[in-house]
Amino acid sequence: MLRKEVRSLSRTAQALARRAGKPGTDEYRADLAHLVDDWIRRSNGRRQLLCMASAAELNVLRAEHVRLCEAGLRPDGDEALRVLFWTSARRHAANLRRLPAVVRQPAPGQAGTQAILCEDCVALMRDARRCWPHAALRPVGVPASPSGQARYRCATCAVQWLRHKQRHELFFAWTPIGGPVP
Ligand SMILES: [Zn+2]
Repeated sequence: MLRKEVRSLSRTAQALARRAGKPGTDEYRADLAHLVDDWIRRSNGRRQLLCMASAAELNVLRAEHVRLCEAGLRPDGDEALRVLFWTSARRHAANLRRLPAVVRQPAPGQAGTQAILCEDCVALMRDARRCWPHAALRPVGVPASPSGQARYRCATCAVQWLRHKQRHELFFAWTPIGGPVP
């Protein structure tokens, strides 16, 4: 029953986001994330947990959503909703764990420095074929070459990124190339 409602929410969000752009584009992805973020913030109780589960399903759930929904959980609340919350929270954690090792481990010579990706970098990791850097990324070294290759450093979490594109490929690819630099 809950599953069905979550699926229905996800389908609605996907349909609305298609107005912003084709699935797979930056516009679509950004609209989907914004829409679901708005749903979670403006709702509470049962509806909020359903939106959270939908966000997890659509891979746009953020750590602050988990905190928000956890704060709204009632100890005497519906058991099925509590299960839904934990399932979604675990899914979110599992997505974070799937990040490549380079961003989870300290850079060489930086023992004890843990590279923790900010939310924007996590979003970039999940949407690694998009064209544009997120707002906190600053170019490093030479400006983007005609081939589209460019290096960036995140002003929030200090992770470095390489944006590149093969001549025959349609889309850019973003690859994290190192942890924080002092
Ligand atoms: Zn970052």
